[in-house]
Amino acid sequence: MVTQEAAPGRFAPMSSAGYETGSISNLLPALSARRQPVEISTPLERSLTETQIDAIRSAMKLFVEDDLARGVTSFSRVFCDACEQARPAAGVIQYDRYCLCNRCAIEYEAGRARGIVSLPGQYVRDKHFGDGDFYLLPD
Ligand SMILES: [Zn+2]
Repeated sequence: MVTQEAAPGRFAPMSSAGYETGSISNLLPALSARRQPVEISTPLERSLTETQIDAIRSAMKLFVEDDLARGVTSFSRVFCDACEQARPAAGVIQYDRYCLCNRCAIEYEAGRARGIVSLPGQYVRDKHFGDGDFYLLPD
């Protein structure tokens, strides 16, 4: 039996017309996107007022309440990628491939608002390599 891949004439010969007209960007949008310099934004660093920190804490507490309302038990634990501890599952936030406990998520969100961190991986790395105090918030 002849497979589709082996059938002669299945693929059209490669034409260079696309390259000459610049339409390669249309064919591969990712290519044109990659042409832009990768911008890791470093917004202006700012300090947060107590009210602003409280607002972040209140917003993040909603995730805890929502998880509890959806049946996550208060004694369930998950491993936090940032503080590397078993932490309450209620209120855990998944950022990309990082799972942050609610406390770390508050620090991360406050750090973003302060302009001292932009990516979750940067926050996790800082926590792992001794720069966690950089993100400490007043009680
Ligand atoms: Zn944590």
